[in-house]
Amino acid sequence: MEALKCLRCGMEMEFMTREKIQLGQTGLFLGGLDNLLSGALETAIFSCPKCGRLEFFRGDFFDREGEEAGRIAQTRCTGCGILYEMDYPKCPQCGVKNENW
Ligand SMILES: [Zn+2]
Ligand SMILES: [Zn+2]
Repeated sequence: MEALKCLRCGMEMEFMTREKIQLGQTGLFLGGLDNLLSGALETAIFSCPKCGRLEFFRGDFFDREGEEAGRIAQTRCTGCGILYEMDYPKCPQCGVKNENW
């Protein structure tokens, strides 16, 4: 993944954590989220080591590079909407083809 630069001071942002945010409480994320199962949105949080600025991103916009080693990236089934591992050729639940193949 490309390095993220702090919008305020230009320092390279560091990955902090993934966090589930309950929709409807933050008001930050609206619309287009009908594929969410639980009403919680996974976000990736980055912080600037220099000025402390925090940035939130949709978690599914980032791969897991730099996080737990060996964790396999996931893809969302276009058929039933579950998440499953990217290296499966098809959905383990409904059998719809993995479009990343
Ligand atoms: Zn900064
Ligand atoms: Zn499926």
